[in-house]
Amino acid sequence: MAERTLRGARLGGQSFEDERGIEFAARQQVGYRCERGHEFEITMSVEAEVPATWECPRCGAPSLSTSGIKPEEKAEKPARTHWDMLLERRSEKELEDILKERLELLRGGEIGPAHLHRASARKKKAG
Ligand SMILES: [Zn+2]
Repeated sequence: MAERTLRGARLGGQSFEDERGIEFAARQQVGYRCERGHEFEITMSVEAEVPATWECPRCGAPSLSTSGIKPEEKAEKPARTHWDMLLERRSEKELEDILKERLELLRGGEIGPAHLHRASARKKKAG
């Protein structure tokens, strides 16, 4: 629809103020639907690389393309976790010992978040 309208505006070779010297790029409507079900369309140049996701204009949630454009699979290697880093320094056996030790301290209320300390200090008899 947009294309025909733009071409029609050139009738008679008369140039309109707002059209002067402007080359209209071909456009496309790309549909998106957010996780809450809001659907909307974004107009972009056909030359533009269509993003797989767009921010919903109504609720700001990330919206997926309804034209089946999938987010690019990231080829980068998975991030190293704390666990990975630990394994580089300690054997699993060592870690098990450390874990046991720490769990005992934790259960004894000697380490861990302050609210746990209080909880163990205040241990009341149930009933
Ligand atoms: Zn939304």
